[in-house]
Amino acid sequence: MKLLLQFLFISWFTIPATLAQTTARVVVDLPVAESFLSEETTVIPIALSDVAPFLAYSVEWEATPDISLQIRFYESNEGAWGDWQALEPDPHSDRKAPGYVSQLGFAPAASTDFSLRIAPPYTKSDLFKVRCHFFNPGKSSAQAQADHGDRAGCPCPQPNYLDRLGWCPSGNCPIDPTPQPTVVTHLIVHHSAGSNSSSDWSAVVRSIWDYHVNVNGWDDIGYNWLIDPNGVLYEGRGNDLQGAHFCGTNAGTMGICMLGTFTSVVPSNQSVGKLEKLLAWKCCDRNIDPEDFSFHPNSGLNLFNISGHRDGICSTECPGDSLYARLPLIRTDVKDSIDACLPSSTNEKLDLETATQVFPNPARDVLYIQLPPNLPGSAILRLFDPQGRVVWQSGNAYQGGELITLSIKGWPTGWYSLQVGPGGPNLKVLIQ
Ligand SMILES: [Zn+2]
Repeated sequence: MKLLLQFLFISWFTIPATLAQTTARVVVDLPVAESFLSEETTVIPIALSDVAPFLAYSVEWEATPDISLQIRFYESNEGAWGDWQALEPDPHSDRKAPGYVSQLGFAPAASTDFSLRIAPPYTKSDLFKVRCHFFNPGKSSAQAQADHGDRAGCPCPQPNYLDRLGWCPSGNCPIDPTPQPTVVTHLIVHHSAGSNSSSDWSAVVRSIWDYHVNVNGWDDIGYNWLIDPNGVLYEGRGNDLQGAHFCGTNAGTMGICMLGTFTSVVPSNQSVGKLEKLLAWKCCDRNIDPEDFSFHPNSGLNLFNISGHRDGICSTECPGDSLYARLPLIRTDVKDSIDACLPSSTNEKLDLETATQVFPNPARDVLYIQLPPNLPGSAILRLFDPQGRVVWQSGNAYQGGELITLSIKGWPTGWYSLQVGPGGPNLKVLIQ
């Protein structure tokens, strides 16, 4: 009876008008009451129907820094309460004390009521405000990752991804109405610090969208891209647009969130493989050296061009020790991946043909070959005589910028042909 009285006394909630028809979310403001001080807590219904595939939640509060809140859910199908869950402050939040927001949490779809408590021995004066957000992400329809094709200018293909309508087919996750373009120089890797398993990752992405927009008050989902443990890539803010993920210094960055917590758990090969493909494409697209570092003006830091969130100006363990430790290997893989895709490009062959200098031409005793400084990877050189036979081949692969000196004294005269790299262009050389 006491619980019921408390419920009648305490509870009011609001449903934002724009989303009311979808029963997508509810906000519950809790007056800070004596009931928070004890084990005996108020039971509050969650006014959402047809929740699927799970319930997403987060809690905002204002309190002294060392306060700890816990939440639990009544599961109607079990007829029982679930365990108390600690509400961990979100490492990606830009809140300042005394304001806090919990990480996005997930509860069973059958959760009909919740209760919240403050861990003893804190007193009422420690807690000033509590606001609970509940979001029903809805069921996902099966969506194929669209092939969005290669972008001009970069031979490394953009990996397939689920676009906004792919992960939010209802259209209830609108894009930033005033997107801010940015020239990307640094690629920032995150983890979501959420669960490592889910029955529906598109629903998780929708929940993160709701959390960033309706709880944090951002213009759109914070990350440019998200990758689930199965290696599915989701388009967040999208390409060349400024997101909200890097300690408030987002200009010049592209943020990629690996869904899950990678503190001790190692990210899956599928997800790392997709991350490397995405990074290779963007490095190639913007001529970013994946193994180098450079100045990032917005943060005032010298950063690896591929960095982790923790390399920024704020204190966070994101993207987790285990993913962070993998970054050096990821940089090398991305470099190799770019090297592998560049020489096969038709565009690059044309570039090589004009960028490689062979002189003098006509040549008599000595031939010089100047390779372009931006040669992708390395190249083996071959010289063919007028009959098409190989008359000289470089013993080792040459790097960009190298000047090769070849003695051709006494060679038969005629039109020779210099090949740069296997399958590369043939340059005509007249030997007299
Ligand atoms: Zn992060």
